[in-house]
Amino acid sequence: MKLDAKIPSGPLAEKWSRHRNHIKLINPANKRKFDVIVVGSGLAGGSAAATLSELGYKVKCFCFQDSPRRAHSIAAQGGINAAKNYQNDGDSVYRLFYDTIKGGDFRAREANVYRLAEVSVNIIDQCVAQGVPFAREYSGYLANRSFGGAQVSRTFYARGQTGQQLLLGAYQALAKQIEAGGVKMYPRAEMLDLVMIDGNAKGIVVRDLVTGEISSHAADAVVLATGGYGNVFFLSTNAKGCNVTAIWRAYKRGALLANPCYTQIHPTCIPVSGDHQSKLTLMSESLRNDGRVWVPKNKGDHRAPGEIPKEERDYFLERKYPAYGNLAPRDISSRAAKEVCDEGRGVGPGGRGVYLDFADAIERLGLNVIRERYANLFEMYERITGEDAYQAPMRIYPASHYTMGGLWVDYNLMSNIPGLYVIGEANFSDHGANRLGASALMQGLADGYFILPYTIGDYFATERPAKPSLDHPEFKKVEEEIAQRTNKFLSIKGHRTVTEFHRELGKLMWDKCGMARNEAGLKEALERIPVLRQEYWEDVNVLGDGNELNQSLEYAGRVADFMEFSELLVIDALTRDESCGAHFREEHQTPDGEAMRDDENFSYVAAWEYQGLDTRPILHKEPLVYEEVHLAQRSYK
Ligand SMILES: Cc1cc2nc3c(=O)[nH]c(=O)nc-3n(C[C@H](O)[C@H](O)[C@H](O)COP(=O)(O)OP(=O)(O)OC[C@H]3O[C@@H](n4cnc5c(N)ncnc54)[C@H](O)[C@@H]3O)c2cc1C
Repeated sequence: MKLDAKIPSGPLAEKWSRHRNHIKLINPANKRKFDVIVVGSGLAGGSAAATLSELGYKVKCFCFQDSPRRAHSIAAQGGINAAKNYQNDGDSVYRLFYDTIKGGDFRAREANVYRLAEVSVNIIDQCVAQGVPFAREYSGYLANRSFGGAQVSRTFYARGQTGQQLLLGAYQALAKQIEAGGVKMYPRAEMLDLVMIDGNAKGIVVRDLVTGEISSHAADAVVLATGGYGNVFFLSTNAKGCNVTAIWRAYKRGALLANPCYTQIHPTCIPVSGDHQSKLTLMSESLRNDGRVWVPKNKGDHRAPGEIPKEERDYFLERKYPAYGNLAPRDISSRAAKEVCDEGRGVGPGGRGVYLDFADAIERLGLNVIRERYANLFEMYERITGEDAYQAPMRIYPASHYTMGGLWVDYNLMSNIPGLYVIGEANFSDHGANRLGASALMQGLADGYFILPYTIGDYFATERPAKPSLDHPEFKKVEEEIAQRTNKFLSIKGHRTVTEFHRELGKLMWDKCGMARNEAGLKEALERIPVLRQEYWEDVNVLGDGNELNQSLEYAGRVADFMEFSELLVIDALTRDESCGAHFREEHQTPDGEAMRDDENFSYVAAWEYQGLDTRPILHKEPLVYEEVHLAQRSYK
C-alpha cells in the first residue's frame, strides 16, 4: 500500500487557498443527491453535520448520548486558540503554526498544521456570529489568555466553560438544520461497525441504545467524528462514555490507525483519591496563567503548605523552564511533576501530588479578579476535594487526557478507505507527538466548519460515488456479526464485572505505557494484554438483555475494543524506539531528562494496517517532510 498524503504543491502559506481554488465543486442543486453519515455530534461532528446540511447535502448524524449537546466536547474548559493577534503581542499565523509544530515535537504534518493556524481566525468570527459568549475586555474587544507552549496570549475563552459555549453554538446551527429537514439526528445510537462495499465506505450499522434494535444506514460517504480513546487508561479526564469503538471497527475493516502511542497526559488534574474511583477531573491549564506550581524542597516535608516558607519551596517549572515557567507544555510539565514525586517530594495522600498555588496572584490582583477568571473551576475543586483553593493551594497530578493518535487521514481528511473521512480528535492529523492546550477545539472546528465541507465535495464531484441499497448482502452480514457478538457477551455469565476488567487493563497501560515507557515494560504489557483479553471473553459478567436499554452491554463492547486496541498502542510505543513529545521512552533522554528524538530513523507517521488479531499489523510509514521548519531540539528554557 502506498500512503499518499495528497499535500498540495506550492509554498506552504498558499497550499490551502490554491487547493480550494482548484478542487472540484458540486452545484447547489446536485448536493441534495448526496447522502453523508456523520458519526459524532461533538464540536467536530456537530459543526460538520450543520455545515454540510447548510450546503445542501443530506445528512444523518449519530451520537450515543441522549442529545448532541452532551458530547464530551462540552467538558472543555480553558479555551480555543486563534492567531488573531488582538493583544498585539507578536502573534501571527506563522507563530501559531510554529508553536504547534514545535509543541508536537516535530512529528506533525507541516501542511496540515499551517492550514489549521490559517483557519483558526475564521473560527472565532464564526462562533462570535453564532453568539458564543467569549470573555471580553472592558472595551468590548474579545479577551485572551495564555496557554502552554506559547509566549503570546491567543486563547479565547468563556470562563472555564469554553467547550460548552462552543458546543451550544454548533448545536444551534445543527438544530436549525434538523428543523429544516437537512439533518436527521439519531441520538442514543451507537455505531458498531463500518460497512464496506467494493473497498469503499458505504454505510454503518448501529444499535439503538434504548430498544436494542440493530439497523443499517447507507450513504455516499461516512464521516467519523467520534473523539479520543483516553479511557484506555481507565482513569482519565474524559467522559466515561469516550471510547475507541468506531475507529477500531474501521481499522478492522482496513482503515489505517496512526501513531496510537501518542497519548497526552495532562499535568493539572485532581489526584487519584482511592481504588474505587471511576474517573478523574481536569483543572484547566488556564489556571497556570496565575497559579504557581511547587513542592517542598526537602523530601518528607509534611508541613501544611502555608507553613513552608518561600525559600523552602521548589517552584520546579519556573526553575527548569524559565522562559515558559508554569506555562511549559503539557508533556514536559507532567514529566517534571512525576519526577519530583518520584524523588519523594510529592504532597498529599501517597505523595502523588504537587501544589498549584494562587496566593501570589490573589495578593497581586485581588480575590475578585481570580474569582472572575476561574470561579467555576475553584468551585469544582472544592466540591470534589472539600478544600477551598482560595485559602490553600490546589493539589494536582498528571492524568490521561487526550489522544493525538487516531485514524490516518490525508490532507483532505479522508482515510485510506475511499469515502471514509475522519475529523476532530478521532483522526491523527495535526498535533504530532504532543498537543498544545486550547488547540483541540480549534482543530475540531477547523475540520468541521472549514475543511471537510470543501474536501468532501471534491470527492463527490470526482468519484461520483453511488449510494448502495440497504438490500446489499454486506449490510445483512455485518448486522449478523453484531448480533452474534451481542449474544456472546450475554452468554458468558462469568464472575467479574466489565469495570473490574477495564480497571485492570487501565492500570497495566498506565504502569507500562503511561507517562514514561521502556522496552521491558512494553514487552511485559504485550504478554499480559492477550491473556487479559482471553480472560475477559471467558469470565466477564454482562447483565440484562440485548433488546432493552443495557448499559452493561454497551460498556462490555467498548471495553472489548479497548482490550484489542491497547495491544496496538503498545506495539506502536515499542516500535517507536525514540522519545518525542508525550511518548517518553526512558532509554532515550538527554542528560537533563528531556525527550531525545531520533529524526534520522523516526521522522515519520506510523500508520498500522490490521492483519487479524493474532497477527502483527503491518507498519506503513508516511515520511514527514519539513519544507519550512528547521528541525531542532525542543527547548522551553
Ligand atoms: C476535561 C477536558 C477539558 C478539555 N479542555 C479543552 C480546552 O479547553 N481546549 C481545547 O482545545 N481542548 C480541550 N479538551 C479537548 C477537547 O475537549 C476534545 O479533544 C474535543 O472536544 C473533541 O471533540 P470531538 O468532536 O472530536 O469529539 P467529542 O466531543 O468527544 O465527540 C464525540 C462524539 O462522537 C460520538 N460517538 C463516539 N463513538 C460513537 C459511536 N460508536 N457511535 C455513535 N456515536 C459515537 C459521541 O456520542 C459524541 O457525539 C479538553 C478535554 C477534556 C477531557
